[in-house]
Amino acid sequence: MIEKTMFGNKKPGRTLKKVLSISIAAALCCAGLAGCSGVGNGAASGGQTGGEDTAAAGGEGVFVAPIAGIEESFIRGMDISSVLTEEASGVKYYDAAGNEEDLFKILSDNGVNYIRVRVWNDPYDKDGNGYGGGNNDAAAAAEIGRRAAENGMKLNVDFHYSDFWADPAKQMCPKAWEGMDVSEKASALYDYTVESLKTILAAGADVGMVQIGNEINNGMAGETKDGDVLELLKQGSKAVRDVSAEYGKDIKIAVHFTNVDASTNIIKKAKYFETNELDYDIYGISYYSFWHGSVEHMKETMDYVKKIYNKDVCVLETSFPYTDEDGDCSGNSVNAGDIVGDYICSPQSQANAVWDVMKAMADIGGLGVFYWESAWLPVGTEYESNMEIWTREGSGWASKYAAAYDPDDAGRYYGGSSWDNQAFFDFEGKLLDSISVFNYEYLKNGKEAEPKLEFTKDCVVELSQGEQLVMPEGVEGVYNDRSLNRVIPTEWNEEELAAIDVNSGGEHTVSGITQDGDTVFATVKVGYANLLANPGFEDTNVIWEVGYDMSVNPTDVQNKASDALVGDKAFHWWNGTHEQVFWVEQTIKAPDDGTYSAFGNIQGGDVGDNCVIKFYVKVNGEEAATDESVSLTGWAEWKKAAVSGVSASAGDDITVGMYVSCAAGGWGTMDEFCLYKD
Ligand code: CA
Repeated sequence: MIEKTMFGNKKPGRTLKKVLSISIAAALCCAGLAGCSGVGNGAASGGQTGGEDTAAAGGEGVFVAPIAGIEESFIRGMDISSVLTEEASGVKYYDAAGNEEDLFKILSDNGVNYIRVRVWNDPYDKDGNGYGGGNNDAAAAAEIGRRAAENGMKLNVDFHYSDFWADPAKQMCPKAWEGMDVSEKASALYDYTVESLKTILAAGADVGMVQIGNEINNGMAGETKDGDVLELLKQGSKAVRDVSAEYGKDIKIAVHFTNVDASTNIIKKAKYFETNELDYDIYGISYYSFWHGSVEHMKETMDYVKKIYNKDVCVLETSFPYTDEDGDCSGNSVNAGDIVGDYICSPQSQANAVWDVMKAMADIGGLGVFYWESAWLPVGTEYESNMEIWTREGSGWASKYAAAYDPDDAGRYYGGSSWDNQAFFDFEGKLLDSISVFNYEYLKNGKEAEPKLEFTKDCVVELSQGEQLVMPEGVEGVYNDRSLNRVIPTEWNEEELAAIDVNSGGEHTVSGITQDGDTVFATVKVGYANLLANPGFEDTNVIWEVGYDMSVNPTDVQNKASDALVGDKAFHWWNGTHEQVFWVEQTIKAPDDGTYSAFGNIQGGDVGDNCVIKFYVKVNGEEAATDESVSLTGWAEWKKAAVSGVSASAGDDITVGMYVSCAAGGWGTMDEFCLYKD
């Protein structure tokens, strides 16, 4: 797929802003090409009728394990905030039998009991053009709430207190509140909350929960100081309590944070609210397995918040891709390469990933789980006509009209759905069987399915130079019913095994045939007997000698795992004002007569057009081999420099080093050097 070539190895940021922002680049890439993989659904595709040909994609027969003790009131919620603009764009939804049906009815029939909707104060420009992302103002939320109630589902009203997307990266003030001081803003927020809730209730919505803010880790409505945000939250809370009393309704108040992997921050917020007496009922989080750490860690964190601060807890957003493909020429936020844990892109894994979050919540007595945007489907298959529709109807994540309000992000990267591969419908609008994980009966009693191998885990065998190679007896198989997971006996290819020289470092691929007749692969990594000390800068830099031909030393050993190839530390350089010339090297005594090889790794950027990077090996001070082929292309894009066949005699000095000459402002790190005897 097109996205894979562009984004396959890159992780998008964990905020909504970032994940949505990547979509336009992929869209442009796709623009000049012949359509996408999706068959499409909507105005541009025309005349299709929810095909029988999508049965395979529908993941027929998804298995669901029972969750002990789950109660019928457990929230099995979905955010479908884009639904009105999707429908206006011609998108149609089909039930499992392939019959066109109202989205709300399909969800309700399949066990969804709660709908979540985002609300923006005024997502329109001065000419009345929508910013996109569903153009969700209070009127849209009222309509969505009405239809949810008609189908027996409650509503969670998610106030962003902004005119467009709010998340940890941005919490922009609504246009109408610009220039207000905090107490004026708090008062405006109270009035706005009361008025909007009344609009939504008047439409007939069964509001059961209100979120005062969306992912407010770093502020809300343009305010960033804890005390200021607290003042706003208190007025939001008061507004919900006042409306609840007036209407005689029990509406719960939720606060909402993300990045639960940083659990200290999550707990700190709960403590701050307790100390400062914020009146709320539910501590809610976003939890995406591909961004936010293990589900066990999330569970422990929320269990702690629940017990120590005596609040209900709820997962207000989660999701998982059922496919790695893109259906609308607007690149996807999450692809196969982003997945963490024992999942793949498939309807079964989608169900399993949601089940794992539900199980975690059920185990700790949490209220339940909301799935984020389960029906944000392609509006067509061609980029240009899609863009026309997204712009006109507001069904893309952002439109060009958002530019005046949010020029740096939406204004530049507007486009379609980066989430169509995470829906519970295929690109043509047909319901996937993974929806079964929302069905209470299935969650309570389980749903059987023909046992099926989902995938086998990557098999990696590591050994030291000279060690005997012992292959595992098989590969680990993951089944649709994960209680069946087992090691599947595998016969490894004898010829390929025989060709591996365990006395020489390197990486090899070995194929195998499983007991079930499937072809699988193992990676065999033979370590190098590295003659260098402290090759990855983890211990100390004393062993390494640093030289520089400039007025200051631009280098240091940096303790930052994200800039290291392996471990936490790496050799780092940067100077913003001087042209930089420096080298780092290490000298050892050759243990034997023979030939030697070496390699080193480097990443960096902004090095200028005249940058020289030289990886070298010297023998007794004389340059014996160099590699000048490496060039730097940006952060985390590691390049390997290598030389081989250097002759030396026992006792000779062998020096391995990297020399860099680059522009002021150039930066980078080096890591994992190796010198070994051939
Ligand atoms: Ca897409």
